[in-house]
Amino acid sequence: MLLLQIDYQNIFLKDLDFSLAIEIGIRTIIMFILVLVFLRSTGKKGVRQLSIFEVAIIIALGSAAGDPMFNGEFAIVPSLIVFLFILGTYRLITYLAAKSQTIENLLEGEPMYIIEDGMFTLKEDGDANFAKDEFFAEMRAQNIEHMGQVRTAILESNGQVSFLFYPVDAHKPGLPIYPKPFSKRSEEILNEGDYACTHCAKIEHLSVSSTCNRCGKKEWVLAIDTKREN
Ligand SMILES: [Zn+2]
Repeated sequence: MLLLQIDYQNIFLKDLDFSLAIEIGIRTIIMFILVLVFLRSTGKKGVRQLSIFEVAIIIALGSAAGDPMFNGEFAIVPSLIVFLFILGTYRLITYLAAKSQTIENLLEGEPMYIIEDGMFTLKEDGDANFAKDEFFAEMRAQNIEHMGQVRTAILESNGQVSFLFYPVDAHKPGLPIYPKPFSKRSEEILNEGDYACTHCAKIEHLSVSSTCNRCGKKEWVLAIDTKREN
């Protein structure tokens, strides 16, 4: 019979003794300060919105900083060399991105139109090209009640969404984005009225069930035309 021998000493402590614990403490303080100095020297003011490029830097930095914190086999100076090369590369790429729009778009991504004229933009195959639930939440955070209030929305390269609104007193029905009205969506049309396509947000006056003539889908929800509070 095979007996599973689990060496808890090895899992939890390995070769840890008091002097190694002290060494780990000192290594961690040094590496933490180096990481702070490094992040300050990149010139970033904060980390509220990170681009993909900056996330890559943080990952590279984190893995170079981690090992020498707790592993006695790793010295600090090699990590420092890694830091300097990351910083050099960061500076070089930032410089190139400032010179060339193409390189900047490759690194940071391009701003993308999500809403035009109160409707979702479509790819050639008629598919809206992003996660709608997430975007509805973003719109609700901006006090938007339905798509008819929004003229244009752009997904910026840092993940934020910029909105342009119709005038507050504009009377334009739109796709409701709050969960309760949105949950009443259906392929059936029971009463004649203005309906919004749940896929692309096109508004059509319907009395019978039909497909959206813009995106080809067939799910509708009663449009609303409440005015935006300002
Ligand atoms: Zn549609």
